[in-house]
Amino acid sequence: MSFVKESVSQKPIVDTVFTIVKKAKEDKAKSGEDVVVDATIGSLYDEEGKLVALDSVFSSLKNLDNRVLAAYAASFTGNEDFKDRVYQWVLDGNSHLHHEIIATPGGTGAVAMTIQECLEAGQTVILPEIAWGSYNLMAQMNNLQIATYALFEEDHFNIESFKHTCQMVMAQQNKLVVVINDPCHNPTGYSLNKEEWNEVIAFLNECSQTHSVVLLNDIAYIDYAYGQKQAKEYFSVFDQISDNIVVIVAFSLSKSMTSYGLRCGAAIIMGQREEAVQELKIVFEKDARATWSNINNGAMATFVDVMDHHLKAYDQERLHYVALLKERSDIFVKEAKEVGLKHYPYKEGFFVTLSMDNETRDKYHEALMENHIYTVKVNLGIRVAVCSLSVDKIKGLAKKMKEILDTVES
Ligand code: PLP
Repeated sequence: MSFVKESVSQKPIVDTVFTIVKKAKEDKAKSGEDVVVDATIGSLYDEEGKLVALDSVFSSLKNLDNRVLAAYAASFTGNEDFKDRVYQWVLDGNSHLHHEIIATPGGTGAVAMTIQECLEAGQTVILPEIAWGSYNLMAQMNNLQIATYALFEEDHFNIESFKHTCQMVMAQQNKLVVVINDPCHNPTGYSLNKEEWNEVIAFLNECSQTHSVVLLNDIAYIDYAYGQKQAKEYFSVFDQISDNIVVIVAFSLSKSMTSYGLRCGAAIIMGQREEAVQELKIVFEKDARATWSNINNGAMATFVDVMDHHLKAYDQERLHYVALLKERSDIFVKEAKEVGLKHYPYKEGFFVTLSMDNETRDKYHEALMENHIYTVKVNLGIRVAVCSLSVDKIKGLAKKMKEILDTVES
């Protein structure tokens, strides 16, 4: 007899990130900061190796009245001004669909809520083959099956695999719930172009003739897309969805505001039909009330204050880091090409991922650590967090990594 419910898996979390982060820390203490390359950390770090905390954001937070920080939110779905600013900031005038916003604890809350409330136990959620690990865990906690689509065919999005996976799942159930983590996919750094998005939506429209479709677009890294405003134009493609599709955009302040620990984000529910959007809103609101009740009032107030009064400073500060991220990734990608170190197609974002089978990956990951290089294992690859490595640490890294790979493969 167990104390937890029979249907929940009791297998402990295998946290591939934090274990390696710890090892890297220990090695830094033993061998020195200069020797160790710690490419594990998935947060933005500056050139001095410190976590970036945007001044425009945290000055705003510290200037809030204590009572604002102390108060409950105005409703279970979040404060009205927060929801309004989220919609304006994220969609940037590119959407004309009916919509509702639910404030959530980070992007995690928005993704988890969708996965939990849109499928019955035993049904299947569709995920990218190489993906943020939490999707799998969320599926497991809700007793869902997982079907994955291959992300790439050569250097572009694998639309055929995406279609095939959806068709397979449609043969088993009456609904599709599909996760697309775009732009700045974690961990590959890929972003679909507008034509690829057009193809996805045209195909989902076909699917929606016989099945209801929930498209979960996880945009956790969108504010670091190199195209910035242009990177939000693909949202206009969603205007073409049929009546039988809803899109849920999972937005996170963690990266956008560098406020990971404040736990704030939003689920933006969008659809052609007001009733469809309301159906989700009603259930999501109850889920919110039943799970976290309401969202950090100070985090929401900070976002509103930044949008209303410090937008220029925030943009300037963030854009500095977007440029830095580009500089770092440009160096790594260029050097990787020069030495023939293979990686998945990278366009933008926090991570570059080396491509290899899982057997090589396991050996390689160990060999890298023996050489004081710490990375994160992902399905079919090794994730290199360019977001937290200084330009100095990145220079020459691809060459070193290729030499180590050659010893593993020989
Ligand atoms: N989605 C992806 C792909 C992520 O990598 C993360 C965080 O690492 C999140 C969502 C959610 O982050 P948070 O809950 O901190 O907003």
